[in-house]
Amino acid sequence: MKVKVERAERIKNLPPYLFASIDKMKQEAIKKGIDIINLGIGDPDIPTPPNIVKRLQEAVNNEKYHQYPSYEGLLIFRQAVADWYKKRFNVTLNPEDEVLTLIGSKEGIGHFPLAYINSGDIALVPSPAYPVYNAGTLFAGGQSYIMPLKRENNFLPDLDAIPADIAKKAKLMFINYPNNPTSAIAEKDFYKRVIDFALRNNIIIAHDAAYSEIYFDNYKPMSFLEVDGAKEVGIEFHSLSKTYNMTGWRIGFAVGSKEIISALGKVKSNLDSGVFEVVQEAGIEALTCDQSIVADIRKVYQERRDVLAAGLKSIGIEFEIPKATFYVWLRTPKGFTSADYTAHLLNKAGLVTTPGNGFGEDGEGYVRIALTVKKERMLEAIERMKRL
Ligand SMILES: *Cc1c(COP(=O)(O)O)cnc(C)c1O
Repeated sequence: MKVKVERAERIKNLPPYLFASIDKMKQEAIKKGIDIINLGIGDPDIPTPPNIVKRLQEAVNNEKYHQYPSYEGLLIFRQAVADWYKKRFNVTLNPEDEVLTLIGSKEGIGHFPLAYINSGDIALVPSPAYPVYNAGTLFAGGQSYIMPLKRENNFLPDLDAIPADIAKKAKLMFINYPNNPTSAIAEKDFYKRVIDFALRNNIIIAHDAAYSEIYFDNYKPMSFLEVDGAKEVGIEFHSLSKTYNMTGWRIGFAVGSKEIISALGKVKSNLDSGVFEVVQEAGIEALTCDQSIVADIRKVYQERRDVLAAGLKSIGIEFEIPKATFYVWLRTPKGFTSADYTAHLLNKAGLVTTPGNGFGEDGEGYVRIALTVKKERMLEAIERMKRL
């Protein structure tokens, strides 16, 4: 290096990115020759459905898609989003100004605080949580006020526990149900309380609904926007990644308040140039095709969930059976911290899991297992745990 320039505080202040350190541990285990079962990262192992792949292959021949995309996304994609939303949640959206295409929902969530947070402003951020809510807030110069998600509150934030002066000062609140990492779900009464809180304190609600389509048994998650008043206070982030096994494609969308959507659009139009229109066309295929492809995906996860749950139960590990998401959030056995138990499972059983505290301090005492490996490997993982 010929120059020595200090990194910005916003980079230095970040907590270490969770998956990077797990990857290092994993690489070391592989070097030692251990046969690894990776239950760590929430990335579907099933390929994208073939009709979606085919649509991309065809669309790539369209030369008009080779130029810069429009900032807000193809109107036909946003129309497909509005139609899907109407069908799935019975919520009416204007594709012109209540829908915005994103380069994956992580991109939209990460940039969102730039639209509202000034230096020193507060965002209410859950813990444990997907790390981007906090990182995006810090990048905008803001501060995260942590809302702990506790088991005794069904992993919902306790809004009454937020001090009045913090609530008055806060500009944004992030929530995420079905929840990563706890797999908790939220019902209408919770969203009603959130909307009431937002109106009383003048706070924007950003709901991350990445797992709205990964659900089991007789349960079906609702959209935040189904609740009266939601569209006046908030925005909902969706992703095609988990629903259609499209994590690599980078496409998602935000819906909700026209005013809030436009503020996020303003940030994005100054930073990026939209999603490759070929990918948006594949996204249209995903949202408009026979949705039995999603039912098939759910079935696979549900089977794995049941195998894992039966195994964990026989070992005596405490957990809740998830009604949604592809995660199981289990309590570490007595005497183990999250980090201890993760290391124990890796070194003694070759199992990669995610320590709960990696999602924030309040995740201590838990480990997250992702249902993203085949049933046979799940059974093998259980056998190895039994032998410990
Ligand atoms: C996977 C995930 C996302 C990001 O999805 P992309 O659309 O692929 O960026 C967002 N939120 C949560 C909670 C996730 O787990």
